[in-house]
Amino acid sequence: MLSFIFYLLFVGYTPTINQSMPIKDYAPGSPEKETLLTKLNEMSTEIIDIPLIIGGEEIRTGNTANCVMPHDHSHVLAAFHQAGEKEVQLAIDASQDAWKSWSKTPLEERANIFLKAGDLLAGPWRDTINAATMLNMSKNAYQAEIDSACEMIDFFRFNPWYAQELANHQPMYSPEPTKNSVELRPLEGFVFAVSPFNFTSIGGNLPSAPALMGNVALWKPASSAVYPAYFIMQMLKEAGLPDGVINFIPGRGSLVGPTVMDSPLLAGVHFTGSTRVFQGMWKQIGENIQTYKTYPRIVGETGGKDFCVAHESVNKDALVTAMVRGAFEYQGQKCSAMSRAYIPTPIWEEIKDKYAAEVNTIKMGNPEDFSNFMNAVIDQSAFDSISEFIDYAEAADDAEIITGGRCDDAKGYFIEPTTIVTDNPKFRTMCEEIFGPVLTIYLYDPKDWEATLKLVDSTSEYALTGCVMGEDMDAVAQAKEALTHAAGNFYINDKPTGAVVGQQPFGGSRASGTNDKAGSMFNLVRWVSQRTIKENVDPPTDYRYPFLGDK
Ligand code: NAD
Repeated sequence: MLSFIFYLLFVGYTPTINQSMPIKDYAPGSPEKETLLTKLNEMSTEIIDIPLIIGGEEIRTGNTANCVMPHDHSHVLAAFHQAGEKEVQLAIDASQDAWKSWSKTPLEERANIFLKAGDLLAGPWRDTINAATMLNMSKNAYQAEIDSACEMIDFFRFNPWYAQELANHQPMYSPEPTKNSVELRPLEGFVFAVSPFNFTSIGGNLPSAPALMGNVALWKPASSAVYPAYFIMQMLKEAGLPDGVINFIPGRGSLVGPTVMDSPLLAGVHFTGSTRVFQGMWKQIGENIQTYKTYPRIVGETGGKDFCVAHESVNKDALVTAMVRGAFEYQGQKCSAMSRAYIPTPIWEEIKDKYAAEVNTIKMGNPEDFSNFMNAVIDQSAFDSISEFIDYAEAADDAEIITGGRCDDAKGYFIEPTTIVTDNPKFRTMCEEIFGPVLTIYLYDPKDWEATLKLVDSTSEYALTGCVMGEDMDAVAQAKEALTHAAGNFYINDKPTGAVVGQQPFGGSRASGTNDKAGSMFNLVRWVSQRTIKENVDPPTDYRYPFLGDK
């Protein structure tokens, strides 16, 4: 409580921090729906040019790629300029210029900039960034709202609070005549923030969390989601972020990444994306380790193979809803999406018709039509990879597709919500991350509850999210215990998606990441290097200790 009062006095923020950003519902006739539709219409009828932003300067390399609508892939929203080696070096230089003053700027001032960004996003920027997310990432209004508005606002508002908590964490004791303190120093060098396509808020947070702690960053967004990222840069500038603190360098990961990580000034990597890319980056850092000025902090949140294990005591309607929402919202392209379910055979017999009927009611199409629950997957490469999994299941003897299965990329990258039932617990789609609207179900005999929990724990290399569903609380407790290391975010009687900043800090272990929990103090602590200061106000003037006697 004391630290909170301290925070209010010094940061001057109104006390809404104990509450996550309320979600607007965009119901028919609501004012928010009207203004969002106007913005969607405005943005989809123009093509903008997106430069790199280095040291506050707009830089155009002429080497451009397009931002398109995945649900209408010939519709171009923007052309964005891509960074090469020269621009990476410019960005490193600009970041180091900015570091000189930003690293000395008091936390209160830094925090105020991100709190302002939160206010701008809650107000005048909300429609723009939601619309950009809907158009470029093919998210429906609700999925955009919980991501690009609410989650990003929460990051901007909660992180300053956590930062103050960290700053308040001082040595417990200063015996006279000493004074002890710990100073939170920004890292020497820059942080490389690399974001995935699927969450606008993650893109906003990856460079901002280190910047809040006094660091400077190079931000490389995913090529398929540069459009909303560009608006975040503009919003941060309006919030007062000094030039060069975050440098925006879209481009090809395989070129930009290795070039950035060859710099001796790489002080940290804040990554979210696939496990394989992260592992490649870690390897390169290992190979370069003798060349860096400081050991880079490596934080990465990566892939998942998120599970639902239902006990025979489960509430069947709740299970069906958790499966439909958990597996198919945002086309299953959430790192937390339910992608394997373990269901007792007798329960499945009771719910399978209802489940299939519910899935078959899902409407799919463009996000500007608010009756669509699902939209398109992100790009051709995702479409090809997901369809390949579906083809594999279609051809397999030990699996059956019971919903969906059709894929059509003629206009947009559309893949039906697909459900596979298998009697092989190690069937390929039970083990590998698909990152699309595909749920695989394995049916088990209720007598094998304990063995099934072992199966859930050992089937995949990942450990991101998972849920247990059941009303027998002893069985639930047993699952919680058996699956201790199987998920960094564990849900009881709820779908495994939808973590909220300030409520369920997010991240997984094993191959799913370093589990530094985005949107928490544990993440921010990675972006500072502590200096411990002991001051002696009455230093000894004789080297001899009292024990040095003759007798
Ligand atoms: P991706 O790994 O293909 O790309 C992520 C980012 O890495 C992009 O910006 C990309 O350009 C960049 N990149 C690619 N090669 C690089 C290299 N050699 N060096 C540096 N950067 C490079 O991932 P994606 O397809 O954008 O996102 C989907 C993945 O992200 C899924 O695996 C999903 O599970 C994961 N994800 C995880 C979380 C989480 O919190 N655990 C959240 C969102 C997404």
